[in-house]
Amino acid sequence: VKTPTTVAVIGGGIIGCSIAWALGRAGVRVLLIDDRAAPLQGISAAGFGSLTPFSDPFYRGEARDFAARSVQMFREEWLADICSASRSSVAFKDLGLIQLCLTTEDEQAAVDLSSELIAAGYDARLLSAVETRRLEPALSGTYRSALWMNEPWVDRAEYFAALLGAIATLSSVEQFARTKIVELQPRIDSLRLVAADGREFECDAVVLCQGLTTGAIVGVPTLPLQWVRGDAISVHTTNGAPILTRHVYCHKGFITPRDHSEMLLGTTYEPEDLPSDNARAHRDRIALADFKRIISANCAILPGIDSLEVGAVWRNWRPTAPDEKPVLGALQSDERILLANGFIGLGITLSPAVAVAVANQLTRSADPAIPATFSPNRYHYS
Ligand SMILES: Cc1cc2nc3c(=O)[nH]c(=O)nc-3n(C[C@H](O)[C@H](O)[C@H](O)COP(=O)(O)OP(=O)(O)OC[C@H]3O[C@@H](n4cnc5c(N)ncnc54)[C@H](O)[C@@H]3O)c2cc1C
Repeated sequence: VKTPTTVAVIGGGIIGCSIAWALGRAGVRVLLIDDRAAPLQGISAAGFGSLTPFSDPFYRGEARDFAARSVQMFREEWLADICSASRSSVAFKDLGLIQLCLTTEDEQAAVDLSSELIAAGYDARLLSAVETRRLEPALSGTYRSALWMNEPWVDRAEYFAALLGAIATLSSVEQFARTKIVELQPRIDSLRLVAADGREFECDAVVLCQGLTTGAIVGVPTLPLQWVRGDAISVHTTNGAPILTRHVYCHKGFITPRDHSEMLLGTTYEPEDLPSDNARAHRDRIALADFKRIISANCAILPGIDSLEVGAVWRNWRPTAPDEKPVLGALQSDERILLANGFIGLGITLSPAVAVAVANQLTRSADPAIPATFSPNRYHYS
């Protein structure tokens, strides 16, 4: 397969936008195509911005290592380049994540995970309750101890705005909003994409990063993705000042702070059958029962949660392959077609590594270093 001069990226979520940025910077002409009114309005808009290769329950072994490399890219050039191109700043707090232990079982799990991480060459520390409170004085609950992991958070809204600003500086990237691709026609010398309104696009390669979608594209393999729901609440301190610096997890509760009044609270990882049209149309609602569950799960982290103000609620679904591994790479049947999907709860975390891997694969400039277990060819497509 020759190095493509024009690549179509279908899906303008954090994965597609990051790929467009990496390819566009490498001088490749990119058609960034999304069916919504603007990019970054799909699942990505639900993300908290926690960059969590170690605490995420789905990422182990080489998937964890790939995610850890991605976080390192945030620390090194990825975010700095985006901020410099867009002339903006993005809050990136690299002080670690705290996982609270309430029981002796939690403590044993923390010992096991920290030993595993240290043996793999990563930084992890067991903290006493006193040490934990010294790091985060607002953690006034009755936990026994904690595990500290080397996981930063990024302000998702600022990161997305900066990325869009950076992409806008590239004349190599053309954006097409409100454009739903419905068919891919492989030709000998090119690929033709057909949109729902009849428009056609010619390219040499295509990267499919549609997240969770119910509309099949004719000529494209349909991924067997599952829907894993996440509900979220944004709360604010009443005096406008932050009360946490690090993100904190405890059992099913998790809180990602901002460096202003906002904190994002989550809890749910609920596998679902295809949610109803109504549920998908109203992503700015959650069930009252789920609201109560989130508050109760996060009370163990911040007992004073009741004194905070609710800003917004939302729900969305994490795209999850049956074996819970990302689907990333070229199709054996046609190497001009690449898939980048199934990143579950780590799509934001993985955005730099996925983007650079796809750009390296398409431009042949470096080894894409994609774990073999991510290959889309592990599935048989009808
Ligand atoms: C509550 C919640 C919290 C999360 N928190 C975090 C976190 O803290 N850290 C983290 O790393 N990850 C987090 N995630 C996961 C992360 O948000 C996802 O992994 C990531 O956003 C997936 O991005 P994507 O680009 O694959 O999909 P999307 O953002 O959904 O983008 C896909 C785009 O493709 C478009 N599209 C689909 N079909 C077509 C078509 N035929 N033609 C044109 N366009 C099409 C869609 O409309 C959409 O705009 C969270 C997820 C949830 C639900």
